[in-house]
Amino acid sequence: MITVFGSINLDLVVAVPRLPTAGETVSGRDHQTFPGGKGANQALAARRAGADVRFIGAVGQDSFAELALLNLREAGVDLSGVRTMAGSTGLALIGIDPAGENQIIVASGTNARVEASWLEGGFGPGQTLLVQGEVPLVEVIEGARLARDAAGTVIWNPAPVPEGDLSDCLDVAGTVVVNVSEAAEIGGRLGIAGDTETFALKLAEGGRNVIVTLGADGVLARTPTARYRFASPAVNAVDTTGAGDAFCGALAAALDRKTSFERALKEGAAAGALACTVTGAQSSAPHLEDIARLADT
Ligand code: ADP
Repeated sequence: MITVFGSINLDLVVAVPRLPTAGETVSGRDHQTFPGGKGANQALAARRAGADVRFIGAVGQDSFAELALLNLREAGVDLSGVRTMAGSTGLALIGIDPAGENQIIVASGTNARVEASWLEGGFGPGQTLLVQGEVPLVEVIEGARLARDAAGTVIWNPAPVPEGDLSDCLDVAGTVVVNVSEAAEIGGRLGIAGDTETFALKLAEGGRNVIVTLGADGVLARTPTARYRFASPAVNAVDTTGAGDAFCGALAAALDRKTSFERALKEGAAAGALACTVTGAQSSAPHLEDIARLADT
């Protein structure tokens, strides 16, 4: 069983002829809505990758809440731990110009008010907690401690990299997953000089598994005792949105069903690659049969 404790948003997207400057109004035509938020994206990715998943988070008392939850509900993610609170559902307002450049305003809404206490009593031995960077770091740390103290496994994807002291969360996370820019930012903040290899090595020396996703170049990982480096399967990439979330969800699903670390990395990379072949974040999260087939090649 995987518990995802994280963010849930609704993305409102408008294609515009050009992005507005301050004070300016630019008109587009129709808008599109997409369920999003890294927590929800990864919960869906883990579910499609074959895991039993429950999502713990919050939505507001507004008409966006049900839309934001729709894909998770349809996929059979357990939503009994989602709270409806006074305030607004997390919302991303996204303008996209013809070159694909975007401008994004995010209202964190109820994502900023989730509480680790909602996780109390919810973990058993061998279960997995998957957390990201879009909810308050103090709550992530507290939630991770609850999972670890119940002999659960904690996978932390600090994306975006949170403000504040990262060391407490690094201490409780058994596995940390970052992309190249997050590795550079965290490395800089921790005073680790050198490249991603050095970053992974130094963090793994602290007794955890460190995974750096390298986009089309695949994945690099270090455990306290081993090094892994895989190319990503070659695909016809049309939209890399959601690749990292697909990677994290599939990795967590594989580790949760106790596959080897190496196989979990391969399934994560296959899922990330498949996510690049379809547009969107949640819509592109692949299913286990496809992930397994690509990981076997
Ligand atoms: P993020 O989306 O967080 O920036 P990455 O870009 O590193 O993360 O992508 C996550 C994973 O998705 C990579 O490790 C890789 O396996 C896969 N991936 C990403 N981009 C491509 C691509 N263009 N071709 C094949 N696989 C890709």
